[in-house]
Amino acid sequence: MTASSHIVQVAVPTPLRRAFDYLSPVELPSGTRVRVSFGRREVVGIVVGEVARSDLPHSRLKPITESLDAVPLLAPPLLDLLRWAADYYHHPLGEVINAALPARLRQGRAGVISGVTVWTLTPKARAVDPETLKRVPAQKRLLQVLAAAPEGLEAEQLAQISPRWTAGLKALRTKGWVSSYQRDSGPSLDRDTEASPELNPGQQSAVVTITADLGRYQPYLLHGVTGSGKTEVYLNVIAQVLAQGKQTLALVPEISLTPQLVGRFERRFRVPIAVLHSGLNDQERLNAWLAARDGKAPIVLGTRSAVFTPLKNPGLIVVDEEHDASYKQQDGFRYSARDVAVMRASREKIPIVLGSATPSLESLRNARDGTYTLLELPDRTGGAGMPEVRLLDMRRLKPSEGLSLPLREAIAARLAKGEQSILFLNRRGFAPVWMCFDCGWVAPCRRCDAQLTLHQKRQKLLCHHCGAEQDMTRRCPSCQGENLHPLGEGTERVEGALTKFFPKARIERVDRDSTSRKGALEEKLRRVHAGEADILVGTQMLSKGHDFPNVTLVGILNADQGLYGTDFRSSERLFQLIMQVSGRAGRADKPGEVLIQTWHPDHPLFNALQRHDFHGFAGFALTERHETGYPPYSHLALLRAESPAPGAALKFLHDAHALAARLVPEKGVQIMAPVPAPMERRAGRYRAQLLVQSSKRAPLHTFLSQWVEQLAESKFSNKVRWSLDVDPMDMF
Ligand code: ADP
Ligand code: ZN
Ligand code: ZN
Repeated sequence: MTASSHIVQVAVPTPLRRAFDYLSPVELPSGTRVRVSFGRREVVGIVVGEVARSDLPHSRLKPITESLDAVPLLAPPLLDLLRWAADYYHHPLGEVINAALPARLRQGRAGVISGVTVWTLTPKARAVDPETLKRVPAQKRLLQVLAAAPEGLEAEQLAQISPRWTAGLKALRTKGWVSSYQRDSGPSLDRDTEASPELNPGQQSAVVTITADLGRYQPYLLHGVTGSGKTEVYLNVIAQVLAQGKQTLALVPEISLTPQLVGRFERRFRVPIAVLHSGLNDQERLNAWLAARDGKAPIVLGTRSAVFTPLKNPGLIVVDEEHDASYKQQDGFRYSARDVAVMRASREKIPIVLGSATPSLESLRNARDGTYTLLELPDRTGGAGMPEVRLLDMRRLKPSEGLSLPLREAIAARLAKGEQSILFLNRRGFAPVWMCFDCGWVAPCRRCDAQLTLHQKRQKLLCHHCGAEQDMTRRCPSCQGENLHPLGEGTERVEGALTKFFPKARIERVDRDSTSRKGALEEKLRRVHAGEADILVGTQMLSKGHDFPNVTLVGILNADQGLYGTDFRSSERLFQLIMQVSGRAGRADKPGEVLIQTWHPDHPLFNALQRHDFHGFAGFALTERHETGYPPYSHLALLRAESPAPGAALKFLHDAHALAARLVPEKGVQIMAPVPAPMERRAGRYRAQLLVQSSKRAPLHTFLSQWVEQLAESKFSNKVRWSLDVDPMDMF
């Protein structure tokens, strides 16, 4: 072989479903980053193999531009996991690898931990009167804020002070008023730790079962209501994993939950904890990633994409709230972090603990057939009982602005006792419909098959599907009448009604609109915990992970929405949601109560909720899935297509359907007819979908591999935007 004759295969971030051959003068192990010219661009790719011969003639092979890593950036186990994920989700490997890498590494920067730049005032500046800068407000603000922060501030913090902060900072530096230093990014370990409480028998047996088998693959499903002590079980198992010198990867669904869990981990263990979530800046993310890879962080905690964090000595994976839909990425590389975590544990030969108060039916079935070990924590800790669940029969009760009389009385009783209430309503805005009472016209979104939601405070009509925004119309465009009214209620309207009914009460609204400002949610939650709020009204944001010990009443306003939803998972979601919110109410000395407003008080789902009977609900839900052939009794893949041209998406799917029919049919794989999406037009695009269903996984994936490959190469596929969703979480 000549000096320049190693042919390496490089995965580059493109939608093309293959690796590309390049020449390298030296051998490059898989997992090494290289810079290569690709089309007219230079891109960073990853070497994924070496071949003896290329399909291209030698003269047409281009040399790599540069090798970026002396040792492979991705070790074989992680690269293999990414390969598996690319195969399983039928997604291009280059994009899968890209999703797993911190931005800095994607850009080709060196993989080195670096400190964070911190800016402080110089002694000279401390004598400066900020008023002298009143004509340059950005500089004045920076000076004031830095004066109040003797430790200094990071770029991210300064960016919040003024949009002109970079220019302002530069000016202050020129004057010699600010200087910077590098703060070591590692968190301080100089902290006291707390011991574990004595475990109750359920916890103890869970910990004993899991730790008896460290060092081999075994999935555990830890089922226990909120407050039953699941987190304590994780902590006790992690302690033993730490003692063996191994790392734990813990996943949580929401970025807002990470600080709580990080806090608990820090109070228990005096070890570095690498935290990975979407709120980090690029350098912080890289630092955490490297600390995990190099084994410097024995505990790695993060949201969805953290499942791809490299680990030097993996010992355990924990997935908290495993049922949560946010583990599924809903665009681009559509993977389930929970499912990838299980696959990862199996490949790394380590145990994985999936915890939930309301396990997904998929995981429950795995537990029932013995694939997972089921561990139950039957009681809430500290002697708190489960709250009493009462159904308010709305066929007989006339609500006023969404609130029935018994619910209002229950709130009044809490106010009188100085206790807190939560009202839960899965709809933000003032009212979901803005309607003409003369002719029946309702305000439509021009770009979606949907109605606009009225946001009264802002005097706007908003589309919750595409974000379109328009001024509130006062005159009906259809009949020119002025008899327009809101129909139905959202959180904003309920908040207003509460203010009217309870003028003295302190009310906090928690939804996407009221918490969009950074820190707003934290501030609201702080007020609730400090007893500075009496009533909380909010969307499902309230159902996740936050404990409210002084809340003794939970009201569910529009529960029925989920009973007859278009998605086969609607009722499962509804049950999970109510069970999760109910779990926030009451404690030992203050029993809680849950009031559900419903027009269907006889529905078995509500009766199971009244008995706090997850397994009862799961029993009939699984029977239903079995009869209808939905997961977990079948495996699904959904081919979605969209186009601004009416009919184009459906046309593509019909062609895809015909293509599928020509492939060797795999036994048990059913290809359904293409149909328009439940909301056909969204954001100006017409959408359609085609469902593929199979009782077995293997034939489904054999079929999908061939089909997707041919689809990608077909001429008709570039007329629309299309994607394949394996194990779709919703059918929209
Ligand atoms: P979960 O994760 O199931 O919601 P946690 O582990 O957070 O439950 O426990 C709920 C509360 O009870 C926490 O404040 C925790 O510190 C406390 N707790 C858990 N287990 C015990 C125990 N065995 N003894 C005393 N307190 C406990
Ligand atoms: Zn009208
Ligand atoms: Zn819209």
